[in-house]
Amino acid sequence: MATPKFSKPTPNFHQELKKRVSDYFREKHLSRYGNSPLYLKAGIIVLTFILLYVHLVFFTPYWPFALLECLLLGAMTAFIGFNVMHDGAHGSFSDRPWVNKLAGLSINFLGANVFMWKTKHNVVHHSFTNVEGVDDDLNARPFLRLSPTQKKFKIHQFQHYYFIFTYSLLYLYWVFFTDYKKYVTKKVGMVPIQKMNLSDHISFWSFKAIHLILFLVIPIYMVGFSQWLIGFAVFGLFAGLLLTMVFQLAHSLEETAFPLPSPATNSLEDEWMIHQIRTTANFATDNKLLTWFLGGLNFQVEHHLFPKISHIHYPAISKIIKQACGEYNITYLEHQKLRRAFLSHFRHLRVLGTA
Ligand SMILES: [Zn+2]
Repeated sequence: MATPKFSKPTPNFHQELKKRVSDYFREKHLSRYGNSPLYLKAGIIVLTFILLYVHLVFFTPYWPFALLECLLLGAMTAFIGFNVMHDGAHGSFSDRPWVNKLAGLSINFLGANVFMWKTKHNVVHHSFTNVEGVDDDLNARPFLRLSPTQKKFKIHQFQHYYFIFTYSLLYLYWVFFTDYKKYVTKKVGMVPIQKMNLSDHISFWSFKAIHLILFLVIPIYMVGFSQWLIGFAVFGLFAGLLLTMVFQLAHSLEETAFPLPSPATNSLEDEWMIHQIRTTANFATDNKLLTWFLGGLNFQVEHHLFPKISHIHYPAISKIIKQACGEYNITYLEHQKLRRAFLSHFRHLRVLGTA
């Protein structure tokens, strides 16, 4: 089965929005890439991660503090994902390709793989957002029904009670199972991954080995198996929960659309930009602290329309996008507060599980 096609662009909106955003960068003499505050933030987060790791593994504190540090290590993992890896893999972290490559590789040290991520996220998720059967982010089968076009099972009537537990498994499942599944099947869902050359294969296995040594072998040797198991579970479950929640609050809501291609033509109803706006929502964009930690992923509308622009510019270009959406009568989805987005996600799951 071929991936669906998008309708022809609505010339005025699509071209006009791109022009207005380009004009903004030209008039302000700004680069579209990251800047010094972003690199300082990346340094703080990565350094905090390393210090926590060293303290936990080599100077293990009394257990309540150790558990707290495991939670923080999980949070730093998610923050490296949001602020460093995600931007690097999109090529927006820096104007120097080698810096983006290095930033993208941070995911490999954390146990996943940037090669697989680029297909899953940059190609599949960013192109076919919320399209059932293509967007792999909708695939939590059989535990969760995330889109109205997915098959309903009896267990889904309880999904709004247990979804947080399922989300928390994401990181561990990703690192120890789905990466290998993609490697073996050479696909992300229905979409083939790019052909891997010899260096990609060597990189995949070398980094998986480095991860096992750093996160299993050394900690087990230093603190013992049972202590490691508890600490690693706390770290991995919390990282998974944070990573999943941020993406779900942007796409899996009462307000977001789940378009399907026409069976006759395999075409999606909307052109690509409108499709992104209908399937994506912002949340808590006035919360500067949250924006700092989430790498601008609470500005997902801006990210989906301009993924190659660094997240540091999203607050500014969101004003341009909102204005254009107003003029062209296109609904711009956002929740002012984090709790509103969470409740919308909760109700979405409840309706899909019970209706
Ligand atoms: Zn992205």
